[in-house]
Amino acid sequence: MAFDDLLPQLGDWTSEVRGRLQSNFEIAPYTWFRVGGPAQLFFNPKDEADLAFFLEHLSEDIPVTVIGLGSNMLVRDGGVEGVVIRLSGKDFSDVTVDDDLIVTVGTAMPDMRFATQMAKQGIAGFAFYKGIPGAIGGALRMNAGAHGAETKDRLIGARAVDRQGRTHDLTPEDLGHAYRFCAAPADYIFTKAIFRGEKGDPDALKTEMDEVSAYREENQPTKDRTGGSTFKNPEGKSAWKLVDEAGFRGFKVGGAQVSEKHTNFLINTGEASAEDIERLGETVRGKVRAMTGIELHWEIKRIGQFKDGVEIPPFLDV
Ligand SMILES: Cc1cc2nc3c(=O)[nH]c(=O)nc-3n(C[C@H](O)[C@H](O)[C@H](O)COP(=O)(O)OP(=O)(O)OC[C@H]3O[C@@H](n4cnc5c(N)ncnc54)[C@H](O)[C@@H]3O)c2cc1C
Repeated sequence: MAFDDLLPQLGDWTSEVRGRLQSNFEIAPYTWFRVGGPAQLFFNPKDEADLAFFLEHLSEDIPVTVIGLGSNMLVRDGGVEGVVIRLSGKDFSDVTVDDDLIVTVGTAMPDMRFATQMAKQGIAGFAFYKGIPGAIGGALRMNAGAHGAETKDRLIGARAVDRQGRTHDLTPEDLGHAYRFCAAPADYIFTKAIFRGEKGDPDALKTEMDEVSAYREENQPTKDRTGGSTFKNPEGKSAWKLVDEAGFRGFKVGGAQVSEKHTNFLINTGEASAEDIERLGETVRGKVRAMTGIELHWEIKRIGQFKDGVEIPPFLDV
């Protein structure tokens, strides 16, 4: 499927945009699931000023969606209307550390690379990122966490650009992080995170990261096309246990499957559509609710529209 070309409709100001603009751009390869339709218009800004310029000039009625490394995201088969923005490149991935170990990092920096870089510099507090395959922008939006640590723990600030192109310097209170939740307005695109680091021993930090990696290899389908944890853990419960007890380990819908290794992970076995994956998720939700009364909530962000004629209501029957 293809959208109308949005670019000619935007106006002359786009000639001043320094980043890349591409119409009907396939975004599936930029996501872990590798499924879904195109972005009507895809934008890679050159730097924060370019992003702000673009948003300031873009007509208010055009929807904007931001993606990171697509590791907690399902793009629907009908694609994403409007503009999809992805930050990448040096200007969004810089890391600086001052004498007080205040670390400022661009939000396109992959979490795993950030963990390694901090360990090499002897800065503690970030080893948990070795197990999270997103980038810092996604970590801010999701309050990504693992192994007893969360993004918010060492965060002292962030910077964002809003839908009108205005920049905002945010405090932890503005961000209002909680379990896989961020209270910053949904249209904010994070460009920088600021953390307080702590002195650490590079060898000890490397050992800690190796343990994180080994745990992941052992317990998660890290080599598969997946979207990470599908559902948030309900208060006092584990989502994977509820899915497992409902009998879904290895269960398939089309080319989508509940992982045999970790039942809160859904997998694209090769030929899955986004529809297969979402139907599988809603089928799991339906049965878990019928069996336990508990409503699982998607942790994975689903973006875009269904293919024509497709509809997936929540809480499907098996
Ligand atoms: C194998 C595997 C293991 C995982 N393990 C963990 C884990 O242990 N703990 C954990 O918390 N998560 C885990 N995840 C999920 C995922 O890696 C995290 O949620 C990650 O923070 C998402 O980052 P991303 O860059 O991939 O964001 P995406 O998946 O691309 O996007 C996620 C959300 O963040 C928003 N977003 C992305 N960038 C920005 C930005 N610059 N500004 C504003 N919003 C933005 C998107 O709009 C979307 O709403 C795992 C995923 C996989 C595939």
